[in-house]
Amino acid sequence: MSETQGQAHDNPLLTAWQTPHQTPPFDAIRPEHFLPAFEQAFADHSAEIAAITHDPATPDFANTITALERSGTLLTRVSAVFYDLVSAHSNPAILEIDKEVSLRMARHWNPILMNGVLFGRIALLHENRATLGLTAEELRLLERTYIRFHRAGAGLSDEAKTRMAEINERLAHLGTSFSHHLLGDEQDWVLELSEADCAGLSDSFVAAAKAAAEERGMAGKTVVTLSRSFVEPFLKTSARRDLREKVYKAFIARGNNGNANDNKAIIGEMLALREESAKLLGFPTFAAYRLEDSMAKTPEAVRRLLERVWKPARARALADRDELQALIAEEGGNFALAPWDWRYYAEKLRQRKANFDDGAIKPYLALDHMIEAVFDCATRLFGITFTERKDIPVWHPDVRVWEVRDRSGAHKALFYGDYFARPSKRSGAWMTSLRDQQKLDGAIAPLVINVCNFAKGADGEPALLSPDDARTLFHEFGHGLHGMLSNVTYPSLSGTAVFTDFVELPSQLYEHWQEQPEVLQRFARHYRTGAPLPEELLQRFLAARKFNQGFATVEFVSSALLDLEFHTRPAAASRDVDAFEKAELARIGMPEEIALRHRPTQFGHIFSGDHYASGYYSYMWSEVMDADAFGAFEEAGNIFDPATARRLHDDIYSTGGSVDPEAAYVAFRGREPEPDALLRRRGLLEEPKAA
Ligand SMILES: [Zn+2]
Repeated sequence: MSETQGQAHDNPLLTAWQTPHQTPPFDAIRPEHFLPAFEQAFADHSAEIAAITHDPATPDFANTITALERSGTLLTRVSAVFYDLVSAHSNPAILEIDKEVSLRMARHWNPILMNGVLFGRIALLHENRATLGLTAEELRLLERTYIRFHRAGAGLSDEAKTRMAEINERLAHLGTSFSHHLLGDEQDWVLELSEADCAGLSDSFVAAAKAAAEERGMAGKTVVTLSRSFVEPFLKTSARRDLREKVYKAFIARGNNGNANDNKAIIGEMLALREESAKLLGFPTFAAYRLEDSMAKTPEAVRRLLERVWKPARARALADRDELQALIAEEGGNFALAPWDWRYYAEKLRQRKANFDDGAIKPYLALDHMIEAVFDCATRLFGITFTERKDIPVWHPDVRVWEVRDRSGAHKALFYGDYFARPSKRSGAWMTSLRDQQKLDGAIAPLVINVCNFAKGADGEPALLSPDDARTLFHEFGHGLHGMLSNVTYPSLSGTAVFTDFVELPSQLYEHWQEQPEVLQRFARHYRTGAPLPEELLQRFLAARKFNQGFATVEFVSSALLDLEFHTRPAAASRDVDAFEKAELARIGMPEEIALRHRPTQFGHIFSGDHYASGYYSYMWSEVMDADAFGAFEEAGNIFDPATARRLHDDIYSTGGSVDPEAAYVAFRGREPEPDALLRRRGLLEEPKAA
């Protein structure tokens, strides 16, 4: 054993954590600690499972279901730390270990989820569930456990199980490669800007582009990277059409460059394997398999929702396109609107029509002020308070930690905020946890993380958010609340352990508070002068919100439809990924001037793993609920109405997976969601009526 490999007693992942609130000691954890820790965790977990299957006593809830809930504690702990680093602060050593771990993880879980003896015990309890005298949460846990094992193939023949295990291992490997490739293509590309290249760009954008150069060891230069937080504002504001084209083309080519990072072959293989596994389990397609365990239930229900939204959104986008083209002509431009022009001219049109541009409001949206707003809304709704802690170990110096307390002042959670883009972080924004709430053996308080990719302010200036960034901040914090307010007994039902098409309800619902005048008037203060957001600018901002919604809806719904088609058509049909994408976009009548929000080779939601595979629609499914749910506060005449907030806490934010989601929604709202609330919120209901 080499010296660096270390002994168990000096591996911080394997010892008790002496830190405040037993948080991971990130300052002591090194890449070489992970593989030995995973080895130990796999061995412990397998021994715990063997103890259950070898238990001679008649299966009962305690010796089977509760015992399962208690198993794998070390594995959960090591995994949480590891995947936080993989996503938020990786390096070549971590990424190399990730390849190994993803394979080992599949090899570890396959024999557990397909263990015939274990499944026999679970199935027996499930069959007799009505006679076991279980509480509602216990019954829900038993059902969810049975479904999880059944859907993993625990009831298949030995031959089918062997094939299933091979498929799962291969899919794990492919998913990991997909995200590594994407990160690779994003890390490899920057566009250096001369002073003349900065025409149209705001001071805060240029400052952020200088900070990004510094992060890459290019101090003194100004660069645009392929992070969405750079690309979208660049396309919106750069007056240089040639550079917009360059950035746009590099952005949509990620994972599709014919280099070592190309993801096309991976996609083809993944789709074929997913189809094969669905068929082994008795489903005609992967989407049918995947959606059986969701609120939507079937691909048809998903398609109905998406098409209901697609038609008015497309019509609006086409009408907007004509206006943008007219604007180009009016300015003397002699070219057809291209995809790299849309955001730029849409922003011009918005400035003209609503007399508003993002640049005008950014000085009022300093990150720190918006964090205050995020916390204050949670205090007013749910009574929780936040105090920054400087003594908690973190994985990067930019990470901040707050202690969260409940109304009585008791410790509730720790909240980690990791807000800035850096090369070691994958793109996007997400919530995750280092430890989930549960109270199976005494109360465990959660450690919840939000990760974003905001551009840093340069030269000591504070980071300023765009309205989209501010919305992302509220969105991820809404997920964070789902984790922090969780109040369940069993770990596997904790917080965000809900259906994918329900999980965006707590996050998207929370976005609504960000755009309330009451909140903005108080927290949107000029970062230099401290002056409040002028009333007139606030009104223009609110009026501009519905602007360009045809475009935003089209880019999202087209990606969701493509995801659904990938997983409902025979896999052979999409072997040529580019051709499939092209044909599909032609079929739905995709406007040529709009790109998918995620083209296939960069669609990490559905190919980095299978969590959102044939589940990208979930955001929209949840939006039907969040648009309708916020109405409860509007009807109460108070966006912080205590009685409504209490119901929201009790029925939605604290119940995790312990309640059926439809029942949870109806308990909160008193009825099913009303679907047109979504179209109304996006301003897509007021379509001009045909004669
Ligand atoms: Zn989300």
